[in-house]
Amino acid sequence: AHPPVTVTVTGAGGQIGYALLFRIAAGDMLGASTPVRLRLLEVPQGLASAEGAALELQDGAFPLLESLEVTDSPERAFDVTNIALLVGSRPRTAGMERADLLAANGGIFGPQGAALNAHAADDVRVLVVGNPANTNALIAQQNAPDIPADRFTALTRLDHNRALAQLAAKLEVPVSSVRDVTIWGNHSTTQYPDVFHALAEERPVRDLVDEAWLAEEFIPRVAGRGAEIIDARGSSSAASAASAAIDHVRDWVHGTRNGWTSVALPSTGAYGVPEGIVSSFPVHSIDGRWVVVEGLDVNAFSRRRIDLSVDELLEERAAVAARGLL
Ligand code: NDP
Repeated sequence: AHPPVTVTVTGAGGQIGYALLFRIAAGDMLGASTPVRLRLLEVPQGLASAEGAALELQDGAFPLLESLEVTDSPERAFDVTNIALLVGSRPRTAGMERADLLAANGGIFGPQGAALNAHAADDVRVLVVGNPANTNALIAQQNAPDIPADRFTALTRLDHNRALAQLAAKLEVPVSSVRDVTIWGNHSTTQYPDVFHALAEERPVRDLVDEAWLAEEFIPRVAGRGAEIIDARGSSSAASAASAAIDHVRDWVHGTRNGWTSVALPSTGAYGVPEGIVSSFPVHSIDGRWVVVEGLDVNAFSRRRIDLSVDELLEERAAVAARGLL
């Protein structure tokens, strides 16, 4: 057996938390030989729901679940944590300006970054799920100067998985045969799902689809899938978001297989994406670190769309910087 790993989930009383916690306890994230110590963080009004989830986790009698604690203290929740899944955030409410949304979340992710900086284990890895995820991750990272910047990531794996699934359906091939799709930019409707390097059953996808289908059907379908789920279910995607978070951390710890994946991480300038934002890139996971795939050529169709999403991230950064959150 491996040594136990401490995992913190924020917003643990919410919908995504409810789907996520049982997958973690079952060993889907870290493997069947790694015991888990779970810490559930909630705001005071979410504590009862998190405590309810904790009772059910106890009733699961999961052999790998070594301990379980519910708290509303970030300092306690992040104490010696190895993996922090930041799910809880302030959702957008009707009439709320984007700048207000960013500011409200700055009030959550700034202090969480500081608490991680002060209390987390040296090897901590952080995944931000709560929206606006990229900029929330940037705020947390900027408030954690002692943690290497590349340990802060935001989730674009759900978008990546949606792109794989839409291609598989269109081409009538198994989803497992599709690889090397990329999500670029922001986890928002400006995201750019890029198939120009993708393979399906080892054949280049660009030879199998045309640009009109990409521009008019595929890209809007992937970018708008969240809204489609809300219309169908009456609430936002939860199990698929949790599953993507599991995939993200599993690959980070154990390595990518079957091609690359997509992760939003602090830009180091690759592909002309400026430093100082958290943007999604094609990456492999090698020896526990994300490594951006190098040398892909970016055609004009892609460049225009990447730049649009990057511009949105720059605007988000300017909005939070103007409020002193970085
Ligand atoms: P969810 O668990 O459904 O969603 C949580 C976050 O994930 C939201 O920001 C949401 O963004 C985002 N999200 C939802 N769907 C997706 C998706 N498909 N892909 C990527 N991200 C997605 O929300 P709930 O309201 O059920 O739960 C949130 C919980 O967080 C509440 O219990 C609340 O009390 C808690 N909370 C905890 C905090 C803390 O621990 N300090 C701070 C703030 C809140 P969007 O809304 O834009 O869809």
